[in-house]
Amino acid sequence: MGCCCGTGSGSTYKITVIPGDGIGKEVMEAALRVLDASNVDFDYTFADAGDEQLEKTGVALPQETLDMVKKSQACLFGAVGESAADVIVKLRRELDLYVNLRPVHSYGKKGRFGDVDFVIVRENTEGLYSGHEEYTDEGATALRITTRAATRRICEFAFNYAKKTGRSKVTAVHKANVLKKTDGVFKEVFYQTAENHKDIESNDFYVDATAMYLVTMPQNFDVIVTSNLFGDILSDEGAGIVGGLGLLPSANIGDDNGIFEPVHGSAPNIAGKGIANPSAMILSTVLMLEYLGEQDEARKIEKALIDTIDEGKVVTSDLGGSSSTMEMAEEVARKLGEL
Ligand code: ATP
Repeated sequence: MGCCCGTGSGSTYKITVIPGDGIGKEVMEAALRVLDASNVDFDYTFADAGDEQLEKTGVALPQETLDMVKKSQACLFGAVGESAADVIVKLRRELDLYVNLRPVHSYGKKGRFGDVDFVIVRENTEGLYSGHEEYTDEGATALRITTRAATRRICEFAFNYAKKTGRSKVTAVHKANVLKKTDGVFKEVFYQTAENHKDIESNDFYVDATAMYLVTMPQNFDVIVTSNLFGDILSDEGAGIVGGLGLLPSANIGDDNGIFEPVHGSAPNIAGKGIANPSAMILSTVLMLEYLGEQDEARKIEKALIDTIDEGKVVTSDLGGSSSTMEMAEEVARKLGEL
């Protein structure tokens, strides 16, 4: 990963764990089972946030949870439901986790899209998710913010990430023909940043065209850098391309903190049934290990998961199997123990 706060020193990492709501709790339990089978030591502190917490106490994100995340070396986050704006969006803003990194990689059966491997680098602190939304006499308005500073740092991250991970192209995605100012600034700053990274190819597409190109030629994408809302939508499209939301991890990274979470939400329709695919959460722990500098363990967990998916024997129903969330996690843990 492009950002890392550790060196794989063999120490015990202090991790805040926020299981949250719905399948968040189930996939978290599964991912922790896999981490237990790894060679890295963690000191977990469990913290509350989400819809259930809001119902119980009137506050979706308690101050203690926020303080705990600030003090820990990394945070694992399951999912929250309706309170997402007050929990994960707020955490990203409060901790200035300006990068939302979402690798879109095809595992197992490749389906009609073949081998897909690109990364979405989503600006995580402003855009339409800046938190300035209000009712008006006519209806409601939301403020779309694009600052040069935030755009520059996300574009810098995207180019540096491309360089560090051996990728060759960064594509800016925007809608500057209509959002002439907010996305005009985004595009302008992107190409200014590209001037400092001439070894990496740069190009740009409109977001609507990108939505189509992602399904007609996903192999043409390498690193995508885009604003908050566009990144949110395109990453769900990316999930669809590689086999569903149960497969996509993400990393929220700032200069001092990192929160690692699946792209999916709390999926109330399947919550409590023990059938959620734990892969996205397990791959989020892989991103966390990379961030902590534990590259070897990250690769091992990834391999154990890929082997489990490729074999297809102990996988959840969305991957064509009939195993439960925990059965799949146990299989990944077993394979990890053999590596
Ligand atoms: P929320 O309101 O928390 O965002 P949601 O149901 O609107 O929940 P997601 O949780 O992102 O949105 O999920 C959309 C659908 O994708 C779910 O209804 C579920 O069918 C499927 N899905 C999401 N995550 C998984 C998973 N880990 N395993 C299997 N299916 C999943």
